Amino acid sequence: MVEGVKVARRLSRSGGLSAWHSRELMPGPFIRDDAAIARWVSKNAITTYHFAGTCRMGDDALAACDSRLGLRGVTGVRVADASVVPTTPASAMSAPSMLVGWRAADLLRGEPGPRRR
Ligand SMILES: Cc1cc2nc3c(=O)[nH]c(=O)nc-3n(C[C@H](O)[C@H](O)[C@H](O)COP(=O)(O)OP(=O)(O)OC[C@H]3O[C@@H](n4cnc5c(N)ncnc54)[C@H](O)[C@@H]3O)c2cc1C
Repeated sequence: MVEGVKVARRLSRSGGLSAWHSRELMPGPFIRDDAAIARWVSKNAITTYHFAGTCRMGDDALAACDSRLGLRGVTGVRVADASVVPTTPASAMSAPSMLVGWRAADLLRGEPGPRRR
């Protein structure tokens, strides 16, 4: 995150973007060295509540769920929310969460996946 702040500063002052750059709002001109940037990051970084992938699905040994949303090692339990998403997408999570829910409903009804319909 500290490196990210520095990259953002470099980008905003470089090339074509410099014409649009008037002044830095955050962290602000007085936050300069790495320790100060780290303190600012720890006080201001947020998740925007888009958590995902806490029990991801996959084929490898570390995946908590299989590709049919089943929780490995526990019979009859599926996980049907954003936590199964293997890689967090660069988007908000509401629509992907609903997609997982719809897919879970299909699986519970024994319906084939969309490609086979
Ligand atoms: C303020 C805010 C604004 C947001 N804005 C957007 C937006 O504009 N667009 C967007 O795409 N996304 C947005 N999101 C993100 C989106 O809402 C979430 O990423 C998404 O809802 C996550 O889905 P989920 O099913 O994984 O988790 P959740 O929606 O949190 O669902 C988890 C469910 O599990 C239940 N639960 C928890 N523990 C247990 C338990 N032990 N047993 C049984 N049930 C349990 C909970 O009650 C809950 O119903 C926003 C989130 C917040 C908080």
